[in-house]
Amino acid sequence: MKKFLILLVFPMLIGCKKKDDINVFTIINDNANFKVSINYPVTNVKKLDKEINNYITKTYSDFNKSNISLDTHELNIDYTLYKKDGLYSIVLYESIDNNTNIKVFNYKNKFISIKDLNYENIYEKANTLIFSNYGNIVSTDLVLKNLKTKLFSIDSNYIHLYYPKNTLSTVFTDTIIIDIPISKKEKTVFKNNDEIKKRIIDPNLKVVALTFDDGPSRYTSDIIEILKNNDAVATFFILGNKVEIYKDILKKSIEYGNEIGNHTYSHKWLTKLKEDEIISQINDTQNIIFENLNYLPTLFRPSYGSINKKVRNAIDLDIVLWDVDTLDWKYKSINKIVNNGTKDVKDLDIILMHETYERSKDALSKIIKKLKEEGFTFVTISELKEIKLLRNEKRN
Ligand code: ZN
Repeated sequence: MKKFLILLVFPMLIGCKKKDDINVFTIINDNANFKVSINYPVTNVKKLDKEINNYITKTYSDFNKSNISLDTHELNIDYTLYKKDGLYSIVLYESIDNNTNIKVFNYKNKFISIKDLNYENIYEKANTLIFSNYGNIVSTDLVLKNLKTKLFSIDSNYIHLYYPKNTLSTVFTDTIIIDIPISKKEKTVFKNNDEIKKRIIDPNLKVVALTFDDGPSRYTSDIIEILKNNDAVATFFILGNKVEIYKDILKKSIEYGNEIGNHTYSHKWLTKLKEDEIISQINDTQNIIFENLNYLPTLFRPSYGSINKKVRNAIDLDIVLWDVDTLDWKYKSINKIVNNGTKDVKDLDIILMHETYERSKDALSKIIKKLKEEGFTFVTISELKEIKLLRNEKRN
């Protein structure tokens, strides 16, 4: 009996510890002609992280070296991650000026290939699905030649096979993805949207709204504790592609009274996208936040702060920019960040910070302290908007 109990408890403990080990690292670089947004998972599995890191470093440095001097350029790397029973299946979607490329990493104690999957007749099934779904665009010669792709990923329902551009079709320019079912697909059941507890704030108070972009990240947990310990709240403009991994921290953040806003799915340069691509950057983020947190943002901040008429027209959410920039992405000195974030702050101002730098986290308590000494109360963006409304009503 004793032995049985130990066996049951042991894997559970390991499972809990491992779960929090995954992080998403973010590199965002915003220059006049180059926009870079890279989000990639760090698993703490040494061999796997090393390969991912090599790939990221090489792609980033090749992009910098390529010196494509005409016009403007964008590198965007986004990812999906599936982890179960020690298996990691990671897909990195690289796009340079909207030309896409796919890189996969499947790892369970070693890097694994399709042969390790023990799934019978996988390519025969793929062949059937290719012709039934893409029969009108694929070339039979190409299918014969490239059917046995090595690019695959796994999740709880499917083995996904990837056929990059020109491997099956000469007319279709995107990667063709063939999903081989491995079990019944469960439908996500949406819970009812919980009422979020509303604070009552005296509209006559002098208020300021802290905002953090590009998270969540490995620093979010500390940031929300600093806010809580200082009786402050903030608004976090987050990326859809990181929601699942940081789901628990985000839930806690909402419980603490912070607000979550939409900052696109993968930090793309929106003004360069087609309307339907802009809409899916927004909607995919709304959906993943709702599915994971039972919370629906009402606010949006454009990635790179880049916005035009086309973007405005595609978005139903309230667009929020900022009044005060801490420039925490630029300066490494904590004092400088604190100074930028506290000098010339006026009632109702919005302060911009980022969740992806340790120095921003380190500057936070000093910023809060200084602004409190000046008599400011910290509110979320929605609270700030409500205060504005109440003040206007009073005046009229
Ligand atoms: Zn951003």
